[in-house]
This record gives sequence, C-alpha cells and structure tokens, in this order.
Amino acid sequence: MKASLFLRDIRGQERALALLAKNAASGRLPHAFLFRGPRGVGKRSTAMAFARFLLCREPADNDACGRCPACHRFAAATHPDIQTVAPRTAAIKIEQIREMQRSLAFPPLEGSLRVTVIIRAQTMAAPAANALLKTLEEPPEGNLLILTAEENEPILPTIVSRCQVVPFASLDDRAVREIIQAGAEEEEPGSASLARLAAGSPGLAAKLGNSRMTGLLEEVTGAIARQEGTGRMIALAGECAKLKDDLPLFLQGLYAWAADLAWHACGLGERAALLSEAEQALAARLGAKGAADALAGIGRARSLLARNCNRQAVCELLFLRLAAGGRAQGC
Ligand SMILES: [Zn+2]
Repeated sequence: MKASLFLRDIRGQERALALLAKNAASGRLPHAFLFRGPRGVGKRSTAMAFARFLLCREPADNDACGRCPACHRFAAATHPDIQTVAPRTAAIKIEQIREMQRSLAFPPLEGSLRVTVIIRAQTMAAPAANALLKTLEEPPEGNLLILTAEENEPILPTIVSRCQVVPFASLDDRAVREIIQAGAEEEEPGSASLARLAAGSPGLAAKLGNSRMTGLLEEVTGAIARQEGTGRMIALAGECAKLKDDLPLFLQGLYAWAADLAWHACGLGERAALLSEAEQALAARLGAKGAADALAGIGRARSLLARNCNRQAVCELLFLRLAAGGRAQGC
C-alpha cells in the first residue's frame, strides 16, 4: 500500500485529524505528539501527511497544496526539514537518538520548522527512551517531534506525559475495504474477508493480501472449527511457525476471527453472515465464556512470542487448545 501524503487521503481517523487540525489552527503546536493506536491503522501515514501540511508554503483546507516547491521536495523525499527515525532491526537504539539530537541543534534549512517522526517509539529500550526525554521536554526552537507507538505495547510513562497524545482508532470494515480497494486496480473479490481478518488494520490487510498468510489462516480456522485431530493441528502449527516474524500478524488475524465468534456467541448476530456453519456451531459450543477464553489464549500466545518463546510450541499449545473448544487448560 502506498503511504498517503495528504491528510485528505487518511480514512477512518476523523477524530485524530480533527485534533491535529485544531492544534495547527491554534498556531501553538506542542513540542511533541504521540500517535497511539493499533498497528497498521495509519499512524505513520498521518504523521507524514501532517508534516507535509506543516511544511507546505501554501496550505489550504487544512492540508498541503501539493504544488509548491516544499510539497514537491517532500514528495521526492528531498525536503531537508523532515526526518524519520525507525528501528533498524528490532528496536530504536540510543545511537540513533543521539544522532537525531545532533541534527536538531541546527536550525531548519527551508523555513521555520523541522519535523522529526519517530516510528514505533515503543521499541526504544530504557537508555534510548531516557536520552529522548530531555529533547521531548525542550527541543531546540523550530522543531516538532511526532512519535508513533502501538497501544498494546508498553511505553515509558515519562515519554507519554511529555507528549500530546493523539489516539488512533481501529478502523471499521468499510474503511478498511475502501483503503484496500483504493490501492487496487480493480475491486478485489477477497477484500471483504481480508478486511474482517485484518480487524481494522489496513497495514495488516495489505500484508495478508500479499502473502500465504490468508490461506494459512483459512486452513487453521477451518481445522479449529471442525475440531480436527492432534496430528493435523501440530502440522499446521509447524506451517505457522515458518511465518517467523509475520507470526504475530497471523495471530492478529486469528484474534479477529475469534472476536467474530465471540460476538456471535454473545448473541450479537450482525456479523453472523461472515461465519460458516461450522464456525457458528463452534461459537455456540464455546458460548460467551469459551469465546472469551479463546481470545485470552491468543493474547497470551502473542505475549509469549514477544518474549521469544519457541514459535512452534506456542502455536501447538494454542491450536490444540482452540481445537478442543476451550475445554483444555494450560496454554
Ligand atoms: Zn504545498
């Protein structure tokens, strides 16, 4: 998916955009924003589009003009007053923060503002986060920092308290479909189910659309719904373990599926049309409590993976438990 470079292209984040527009119109921007929300809902795209708007020479209607020299340089990635800091491997390192701080000491080159976007700020370990604190509190004049962070991962409270927090929401299915279809030449027949599996996250939907994850997700959910045997679940766990770094995304999709079961089990049937007969039967067997247990089990599997537990073992335990209909314990 192409990163949006205009605020008007951002879908489903009306509240966040309204908050940013209000800040910009007031003429008194904070030192730093923290864009917080689920993975893949447009935090980074919004940060870049907002930066372009702030750097634009002739902004109109709360957006960049797209025609001025600043906008052209921004689009060509040659504007000197926008920089991004992102994890090079798993985490943003203290050296990257120091390097960024050195660059902030010089005044902006083109106008009166430089924007620094720190992507996935939650990956900073304590030394890097502590090094950043002073800059957040009092950045050199003419600098704005925008941090993006996922809501389900911890971030130092001292970082949060120094930023204006802009909450980003999960997107509804319609917004996700619009985003996926905007990126496709013609309507993709599978986009409705992709949207559902991606649970309000177009970044994930794009990834699912491009990989064998979707097929695997359908095999795993089908096998769970049919309560297939131990051998089959272990084989599927092996296939899922091969997803490696994409496994957390896979589990996010599985979580979305289990959430649909939970809605159905709670008698909120509006999403029942999305479920197969076997899935509806599974939801009935689980009941609200069992569906909640399934969701909790998937959540636990995700945190075990985050702590580097063996992928195959985590998947085996989870799938066996889910296939047992939530009756087995100890995942
Ligand atoms: Zn412009």
